[in-house]
Amino acid sequence: MTIYNFCAGPAMLPADVMQQAQKEMLDWQGLGRSVMEISHRSKEYIALAEQAEQDLRDLLAIPDNYKVLFSHGGGRGQFAAVPMNLRGRGETADFLTTGSWSQDAFDEASKYLSSHLVSKTAVKEGLSFVPSITADMVNPKAAYFHYCSNETVDGIEVSDVPETGEVPVVVDMSSNILSKPLDISKFGVIYAGAQKNIGPSGLAVVIVRDDLLDYAMTETPSFMHYQTIAKFNSMYNTPPTYSWYLAGLVFKWLKAQGGLEKIAAVNTQKAELLYQCIDESDFYINKVHPDFRSKMNVTFHLPNTDLDGVFLQEAEAEGLVALKGHRKVGGMRASIYNAMPLEGVVALTNFMGDFARRNK
Ligand SMILES: *Cc1c(COP(=O)(O)O)cnc(C)c1O
Repeated sequence: MTIYNFCAGPAMLPADVMQQAQKEMLDWQGLGRSVMEISHRSKEYIALAEQAEQDLRDLLAIPDNYKVLFSHGGGRGQFAAVPMNLRGRGETADFLTTGSWSQDAFDEASKYLSSHLVSKTAVKEGLSFVPSITADMVNPKAAYFHYCSNETVDGIEVSDVPETGEVPVVVDMSSNILSKPLDISKFGVIYAGAQKNIGPSGLAVVIVRDDLLDYAMTETPSFMHYQTIAKFNSMYNTPPTYSWYLAGLVFKWLKAQGGLEKIAAVNTQKAELLYQCIDESDFYINKVHPDFRSKMNVTFHLPNTDLDGVFLQEAEAEGLVALKGHRKVGGMRASIYNAMPLEGVVALTNFMGDFARRNK
């Protein structure tokens, strides 16, 4: 039976990538060793690292005045690294909070500076939506403006980049980076924990505009210090080498799919199919305004929580696994990142349709 893994993170990786990693596990590039068993300073590894960065730059069209850092500590590491690295720009930072992750980023930043809430998710006619941010709402003296482009737990995606005037925009893109093309020049810092759309957990990819490298607090640990990481090409300390290798395979896979325009079209098709199934069912409920529905994490509730257990059990018996919603919101969540094939979503919607008919 085919297993379709809807886990929010660590999430499934493309089957082709996993097969290549398996094939190369014991003998990478004829070295008679695994890539995880060689020095990060070897010429072979350095070539891999540089290629991965180049492929990421190509995919996202990252301009030359941005550094790409392969850092430790996942997404939450950046919740602390961002305020520590930008504290020199100001005593306060402005936040848009749209759900669980941006709230946690807000709280963590408060240890290093004064976090200020500019706006947050609101509810109109029972549907969650995210108010637009315009420059007049932002404190021009703020060190930065932070938001999360995709709330993994809540299933809320923000597509418009906030208008902040001169204040650099910092975005947590952990769960929707590489899901569609992006205008990098609108951002000061983009960061993402790897385990949703990039590779294994532990790694964070940080894309930072180079004029922002000079503002760190002196207490910033060296391995989290953007300027230091950049100076050492992300090898100030030993990087998460195997995660970097797998990320590189994922970038190559994305290029082979035709790049981000192509993957975005597939992602739209997958999400539309699933939301259509929910909307037409008279059974499943999604409470996010259509403009802010996530294309990566589709959340929904059954009409009655007593059915949750059976739904999950029957889904699992069909090979549809890890659909349980986050404990903070309950219900169900189908995470359909880049690696989820269209067939997985078709299988899920077939099951959901059938389950609804039988349990109405
Ligand atoms: C998963 C996630 C994180 C946390 O990542 P960790 O690697 O567990 O620290 C942060 N932000 C978002 C949006 C996430 O989805």
